[in-house]
Amino acid sequence: MQNLNWSELPFGYVKTKYNLRSVFKNGKWGDIEISDSEHVSVHIAATGLHYGQEAFEGMKAYRGKDGKIRLFRWIENCKRMQRSAEGIMMEEVPKELFYNMITKAVELNLDFVPPYGTGAALYIRPFLFGSGPRVGVQPADEYTFIVFVSPVGPYFKEGFNPVKIAVVRDSDRAAPQGTGHIKVGGNYAASLKSIKRVKGEGYGSPMYLDAKEKKYIDEIGAANFFAIKKNTYITPKSPSILPSITNMSLEQLAQHLGYKTERRPVEFDEIETFEEIGACGTAAIISPIGEIKDLDNGKIYKFCKDGKAGPVSTKLYETLVGIQYGDIEDPFEWVTVLDL
Ligand SMILES: *Cc1c(COP(=O)(O)O)cnc(C)c1O
Repeated sequence: MQNLNWSELPFGYVKTKYNLRSVFKNGKWGDIEISDSEHVSVHIAATGLHYGQEAFEGMKAYRGKDGKIRLFRWIENCKRMQRSAEGIMMEEVPKELFYNMITKAVELNLDFVPPYGTGAALYIRPFLFGSGPRVGVQPADEYTFIVFVSPVGPYFKEGFNPVKIAVVRDSDRAAPQGTGHIKVGGNYAASLKSIKRVKGEGYGSPMYLDAKEKKYIDEIGAANFFAIKKNTYITPKSPSILPSITNMSLEQLAQHLGYKTERRPVEFDEIETFEEIGACGTAAIISPIGEIKDLDNGKIYKFCKDGKAGPVSTKLYETLVGIQYGDIEDPFEWVTVLDL
């Protein structure tokens, strides 16, 4: 085991031993290459550099009390990456290659999988980009798929404590018929200015409203939004939201625990009627939202009045994290225990 301060790890990059690569060329995927370099040599005219042919995934490997390492719903990350590839005309990574590379990346960096009980996990970052040269705008004929890993702590430094969010209307991360529904790099470039703006105002992440009418809630930074009202788990439906695997799991879990669920357009004006609200994604699982500020009119909405997450969010968080670390039985077959 590496000598790292596991429970204080930021959500950031830590150098590990190896990463894995495979290149699609001449119509087929090449052998998996194990690399100890943090760099990649890319053609100066690669479409990934010029025309945004790039997609990524984010998932975690969790070490349980029994020492075993678990992946959570990796097949969903694989399918989403295939949809991302399809959406921007890249070569899809086959399921077997995806699985072989993520598991090999964990195996070769076992020392970096944080110990049980630290709240940390090994973040796995698969990404795919056009590496073949083009000058005119068209898809490349060569693609590079890389998987690296990095031990991470919780995404929001507050951990499972309320965060502050600010609504932005002067920029959109994605358009209704654009690429918001797939995990492609361009969406994140489009979000950088609004992230900087809200941080400058003392808020953690921006809340995006739908780009067309600015009436409905879309997302929060790189996380989905959910709300609890009258024993119902509510999450927005919109063509420009990235379908979060965490959100989908919380929704299923909510049903399993006896709550109702609704996936529908959610007007921002409904916010005052919610009992609990939160952001969800692989990085922090759930970040309860304690405050939302509307930067246009200065209006502030407060939640978690006692400074703590609400009871339903807490229950969902504890159950999902319990399943991921193997503390709670997994009735959904979401977890893959690795044979390492
Ligand atoms: C990755 C991501 C999420 C969270 O998805 P998970 O599968 O739960 O990690 C939500 N929104 C955006 C924009 C994302 O990029």
